[in-house]
Amino acid sequence: MRYNSTRNSGADVSAAAAIARGISPEGGLYVPADMPRLSDADFDALRGADYAGRARLILSRFLTDFTDGEIADSVAGAYTGGRFDDDQPAPLVQLEKGVHILELWHGPTCAFKDLALQILPHLLTRSAKKMGDGKKTVILVATSGDTGKAALEGFKDVPDTEILVFYPEDGVSPMQKLQMTTQEGANVFVAAIRGNFDDAQTGVKKIFTDPAVGEKLAAHNMAFSSANSINWGRLVPQVVYYVSAYCDLVNQGADLSDGFDVVVPTGNFGNILAAYYAKCMGVPIARLVCASNANNVLTDFLTTGTYDRNRQFYTTISPSMDILVSSNLERLLYHMTGRDDKKVSGWMQALSDTGRYTVDGDIADRLRELFWAGCCDDTETKAVIREVYEKKGYLCDTHTAVAVGVYEKYKQQTGSGRPAVIASTASPFKFAASVLDALAPDKAQGSEFEMVDKLHEATGWKIPGPLAGLKGRTVRFDTDCEREHMLDVVYNRLGIR
Ligand SMILES: *Cc1c(COP(=O)(O)O)cnc(C)c1O
Repeated sequence: MRYNSTRNSGADVSAAAAIARGISPEGGLYVPADMPRLSDADFDALRGADYAGRARLILSRFLTDFTDGEIADSVAGAYTGGRFDDDQPAPLVQLEKGVHILELWHGPTCAFKDLALQILPHLLTRSAKKMGDGKKTVILVATSGDTGKAALEGFKDVPDTEILVFYPEDGVSPMQKLQMTTQEGANVFVAAIRGNFDDAQTGVKKIFTDPAVGEKLAAHNMAFSSANSINWGRLVPQVVYYVSAYCDLVNQGADLSDGFDVVVPTGNFGNILAAYYAKCMGVPIARLVCASNANNVLTDFLTTGTYDRNRQFYTTISPSMDILVSSNLERLLYHMTGRDDKKVSGWMQALSDTGRYTVDGDIADRLRELFWAGCCDDTETKAVIREVYEKKGYLCDTHTAVAVGVYEKYKQQTGSGRPAVIASTASPFKFAASVLDALAPDKAQGSEFEMVDKLHEATGWKIPGPLAGLKGRTVRFDTDCEREHMLDVVYNRLGIR
């Protein structure tokens, strides 16, 4: 399997090169040059396998320059040995008949990012070794809250790596901030920037693609890579849990004669893109439902064909989706245009110059067939949390609730009777203040940990160990910087002048 770039279809690199570099030199994203299809025999094998077995098979189709042993060791290092509750990274829970919740928050940081970021360090260090330049890998991360912690947890004390995380000062929840600023490990660094997630992401991308910066690092025997979902090594592990959910549905005897729908609370478009890849591999996904919060740039794009980031940015109770520039959409556009790198480059240039672009009419039509898009504001999201808890006894976090709310709108407007899988992306205790405020507004006050305890008392739901363990930890990082100074922070940390 070879990889092209969305802005240079002539690029022809191995999976190891795509993962080690993170982003293509001209600023495009790496995509597989063709899509592996799963056979009936593959699906039989997948249905009979546990999560690790499913991951080994899917990864082996995309990472063809890795040996079976390398893939097996990476998978075992990530998904076994108790890193996820009961060694079950992606259990499928029934909410009601035909509606299933894919719980992706049973890992060390209580959000779905763990599914990819527990395995990425294994893939990345092996990729860097294959590239054979002996350089130290410097991971730069821009985070809207959850990626940062999951990446820190994945890369802490991994030999020959350094990791630096930038988060928006006022754009993350108190729990997310505490998770990051108390991170342990000798090779980790965390800084707040004065700006929002898009500023952080733009700043990181700029550092990555500046040739002068790259040369300076190379002179110190270092090279950048990314742990954001622009890195192919983040996406491929996410394909696994959609295949896994399908296998579980079949094993549970679901009626899949018309396929099933997948609903994803979306920010940077990585998670839902992984579901698209699963569909391309032969998983019978009918419709991809893209759920947004008040930052509904994707809802508008997928319904009209015009992407327009010139709009108000809202800070919401689902902060990991407070994004106006969804990086991974670029990959989808590349596939939808039949790999037209010129067209994609043009749209991305327009996005950077004017903040908007419009895709061709036939592409907009095909997007509408493939996707259904909707949004929920904070008031609707809180109502969903309360209703789902009162009627079904199920506790959603704020992001998952956006997906449930959009799914209800989807069902109402389209009358879809197909089974649905709703991705649940975070533990409710990670956003305890907002969840408690939805359930019992009179109780929603006090410190973050008091609210975690109150949420536990109100519902009887178990507090995840990794969150309970944060109490009383020392804050190690209090750096903040203007977004123009991110590069100085990086050089400082790396000891480069
Ligand atoms: C990152 C994140 C999202 C958005 O996922 P994308 O892949 O960026 O679309 C949704 N919910 C939670 C809890 C997240 O951490």
